[in-house]
Amino acid sequence: MVSICFASAPAFAWGDEGHEVIGLIADHYLEPAVRARVQSILAGDTTQLTTQDVAHEATWADKYRDSDRNGTKVRYNQTRNWHFVDLELEGADLNAACFGRPQLAPGTDASLGPADDCVIDKIEEFTAELKKPTTGEDERRFALEFLLHFVGDLHQPLHASDDHDQGGNRKFATAPGIRSNTLHHDWDTEFVARLGGNETEIAQRLIAQITPAERSRWSAGAPADWAMESYSVAKSHTYGLLPAPKPANHYHLSAGYVSVDITYLCPIRHNLMSNRVTRRFRQSLFRYQVFSEFIVRSNLIEIAGFTL
Ligand SMILES: [Zn+2]
Repeated sequence: MVSICFASAPAFAWGDEGHEVIGLIADHYLEPAVRARVQSILAGDTTQLTTQDVAHEATWADKYRDSDRNGTKVRYNQTRNWHFVDLELEGADLNAACFGRPQLAPGTDASLGPADDCVIDKIEEFTAELKKPTTGEDERRFALEFLLHFVGDLHQPLHASDDHDQGGNRKFATAPGIRSNTLHHDWDTEFVARLGGNETEIAQRLIAQITPAERSRWSAGAPADWAMESYSVAKSHTYGLLPAPKPANHYHLSAGYVSVDITYLCPIRHNLMSNRVTRRFRQSLFRYQVFSEFIVRSNLIEIAGFTL
């Protein structure tokens, strides 16, 4: 996969808005002492790629990757593969999708690890660095910035699946109220925009809906498990519910596809919904499921009791 992001609009990637929502909700759940430490780590960011708050730092990894995309491509080539894991629809081969799962050489910072590495293993590597008391302050900041972002990316189904189409970047879609885009862009950005409101409003709405049981369930498992969940959403919905292409690689998505029945995610809530439920609410509920899941996982810096 050459690029996971819409080449002509690099600012849009699980969009900034999606990552900001994630950051805001993760921030909400931080213990005060952890929050203070997180803020002090992020305050050391002198790249000026984002402001130094958690919500904007959650977009940092995309901006870092794209900062020399049209120039030297050093950062771009080093980190672009780290944002996804291309599990193929016809069969998920974790080893192949993770480039043979390369091990970091002893003493190597994860931020300087091999360019061919997948999002699952980068989450593991950066998590280990946050846990380790001897990690240097600069690397600790990199680890936090990458982790805040990658946990989000992993939950975008098209960052954990592939149909030999660059994770949906070679499929094009139109939908009611949505102009023609790549399928990847729709999942990154358009469906997020349909939640309505700004990132703070969306975050507050979602926080109000997260139950302790969900938080606990979503906090379990390992990055490879989370990737397989995203992959199964991609199989059942993202790719699985695409209509027949007309012409090749062009899809006219129905309102139903966009509003996304949440049956496979939350059957009980789905059964409670009546036909009078607005489409917008249905969309919100679906996105809530997806968003809040990885949002809470972004909070693993607290849950895992990392040495911050
Ligand atoms: Zn990304």
